[in-house]
Amino acid sequence: MAVLVTGGAGFIGSHLVEKLLNTEEVVCVDDFNDFYDPAIKRRNLEPALQSRNFHLRQGDIRDLSFMEGVFREFPLTEVIHLAARAGVRPSLKDPLLYEDVNGRGTLNILELCRKYEVKNFIFGGSSSVYGINNKIPFSEDDEISKPVSPYAATKRANELMCYTYHHLYGIHVTVLRFFTVYGPRQRPEMAIHKFTRLIDEGLEVPLYGDGSSRRDYTYTDDIIQGIMAARPPKADRRGRPYDIFNLGESRTTELGKLVTLIEEALGKKARIKRLPDQPGDVPVTYADISKSKGLLGYNPRVSLEEGIPLFVKWYQEMKVKR
Ligand code: NAD
Repeated sequence: MAVLVTGGAGFIGSHLVEKLLNTEEVVCVDDFNDFYDPAIKRRNLEPALQSRNFHLRQGDIRDLSFMEGVFREFPLTEVIHLAARAGVRPSLKDPLLYEDVNGRGTLNILELCRKYEVKNFIFGGSSSVYGINNKIPFSEDDEISKPVSPYAATKRANELMCYTYHHLYGIHVTVLRFFTVYGPRQRPEMAIHKFTRLIDEGLEVPLYGDGSSRRDYTYTDDIIQGIMAARPPKADRRGRPYDIFNLGESRTTELGKLVTLIEEALGKKARIKRLPDQPGDVPVTYADISKSKGLLGYNPRVSLEEGIPLFVKWYQEMKVKR
């Protein structure tokens, strides 16, 4: 019996795989695409590859026959589906690719869960589905029919398709809406990682808008705790076989303050370059986590003030190794 993690070589996936390997047989599917340097994804998996309970299958979730081979090879009890084209801004440049990977790829996996009777499905969703939501903090039952980027629209469409498969075939689905995740291995194009690199190298930091946009930043350890808390048997005991949960810290930080925290951790000053607001960006994200706390026992612990120095420490160690 094994757990399938799609996108297991990525930032969040590789941390999850390591955690699961403490108790489970884990199958990881990843295509090591070049959205960012695939060598980083190979490095992410180095600890997992030491374990005999780890099985890596390289391939594309859009390739149904490849994916079917994985479902045939391993008796799976659950799927944690994290493989996706991530990121708001790049989705404006290549919406067809986002639709193809996130839409068709997710449908392939749901189809195989139906065919091979895998009843537990966790979906790596996104706070971007809330769009420009004036009601804060964001609750799972907020009205969300107006996504403002192709990425957000694919993630919302994925949630709906998950519901359809739950309704038709009894698959237990837990959608987890992640709020900007950061920590060791964060994707290099994400703000915290990118700002850290630019400030460290003395290069200009492009800041979109007036610096007042706010995000709910979630540390990796907290996201992994939330994902683990959503797994069966706990999920089964909840008796809510399709459900959606926010995973955030439930605190928001202005962009300007974020830059200050990175400057302090690095001991260097940023050279800011102000740029206009980016289409597709939202002014604020802010998670209401009362449902996740109450039903999952989710309990985020790492504040941004603690997490940024931890991230910068990792960044500096990586720099020495490269
Ligand atoms: P990531 O890009 O580091 O991880 C995604 C992994 O999926 C990568 O290793 C990639 O190679 C793999 N992948 C992509 N397309 C694939 C395909 N067609 N076939 C097989 N593998 C494929 O991103 P991440 O930040 O770890 O995000 C993981 C998940 O969480 C994604 O679904 C993302 O949308 C979601 N999410 C992330 C954040 C965040 O802040 N990092 C926020 C909200 C939602």
